Amino acid sequence: MNVHEYQAKALLRKYGVPVPRGSKVGSAEEAEAVARELATPVVVVKSQIHAGGRGAGALVADSEEAARVFESHLAREGLPKHDKPGGVRLAKTPEQAGEFAASMLGNLLVTRQTGPSGREVRQVLIEEGCDIARELYLSMLLDRSTGRNLLMASTEGGMEIEKVAEESPEKIFRVSVDPAVGLRDFQARRLAFGLQIPAEKIGDAVKFFKALYHAYVDLDGSLLEINPLVQTGAGDLLALDAKISFDDNALFRHPEVRELRDENEEDPKERRAAEFDLSYIALDGNIGCMVNGAGLAMATMDIIHHHGGEPANFCDVGGGATTEKVAEAFKIILSDRNVQAVFINIFGGIMQCDVLAQGVVEASKQVGVTIPLVVRLEGTNVEQGKKIIAESGLDIITGLDMADGAKKAVEAARAAA
Ligand code: GDP
Ligand code: MN
Repeated sequence: MNVHEYQAKALLRKYGVPVPRGSKVGSAEEAEAVARELATPVVVVKSQIHAGGRGAGALVADSEEAARVFESHLAREGLPKHDKPGGVRLAKTPEQAGEFAASMLGNLLVTRQTGPSGREVRQVLIEEGCDIARELYLSMLLDRSTGRNLLMASTEGGMEIEKVAEESPEKIFRVSVDPAVGLRDFQARRLAFGLQIPAEKIGDAVKFFKALYHAYVDLDGSLLEINPLVQTGAGDLLALDAKISFDDNALFRHPEVRELRDENEEDPKERRAAEFDLSYIALDGNIGCMVNGAGLAMATMDIIHHHGGEPANFCDVGGGATTEKVAEAFKIILSDRNVQAVFINIFGGIMQCDVLAQGVVEASKQVGVTIPLVVRLEGTNVEQGKKIIAESGLDIITGLDMADGAKKAVEAARAAA
């Protein structure tokens, strides 16, 4: 689960991490009032969406414009900069803070991370402006290969870390932390040295990194990124941006974090799938997949790729799925407007082919299927399953085996497109 920047900062503040003063608002009037109260020469108006790259992003009025700006300016590296206002703006007066907030609220912000559809800005964060001497980078995440927490720091803050990793990997410092021992002072100092923190501020930096690490572990984060971590003119460190992703499997321990969920930022299909306890992840392709078992789901995506297609989703209906659950999964897949063909690939072990077939037929009756449907069934009760589908009156393309089914689904999607 992800949260907004203002929420991440509020959490970090509780752990003693220095963050700028500010408040989240939902209207231009409030924005102006908060700016007046902060009473700093400059206030920063920041669009709150669950995506990065806001500073370099573009505010637009509608989805057509969003797609156009994305394709022509943001989709690839090295394209000319657009001429639209971005999602992070510096205001010199409270009135201007109000104007900037008004220009963001209710509009779409397109960034490299949002994709062509952009995201609607519903809230903005008004913060005191700060005097930035240097923009640094700091992140923590779980390194699955070592089973440790990995801290990464770089002097090249403010830009995308992937770019730094590609162009100047020597500018990224890594510290691997044993979770049983935690972040040691010498490790924090090593990071501070790497970031060229002046000698008299090393102690502060160590405190900063340890507070951040404590927050990350205590809240069961899976990723924590401060980009930029700034050093002010006075030499102080401040988290100017904050992104935290939480481990969904640990959310039950953190009701206060779970409450920060913003359903507007989530894919409605994924949300619905979660309600029915389905493993569903939306992807960018046009072939809807319904599969049982995570391994088979991965293999199905691979084989679709192999035949030149792109899966529209990952969907594992699981082992003991009921007719109702199968029907729901099928409806969610069909509700994706990008889906131009569906590939149902089932190997019935615990899952029974007739239950699956019943679910598909029921869902089809309820919502109607107008796109090609390729089905490959094998395993427990396969004959009953095939019979149910054959007698349903549905127009089905039969996949003789997994490869044949994938190939037919790719062909069908291509023909439909
Ligand atoms: P992102 O683009 O979504 O990652 O949003 P950030 O919060 O990182 O802001 C983007 C950029 O805005 C930062 O890298 C800074 O250069 C700039 N910025 C943000 N806050 C301030 C501020 O208080 N003062 C100044 N001068 N610049 C700021
Ligand atoms: Mn940032």
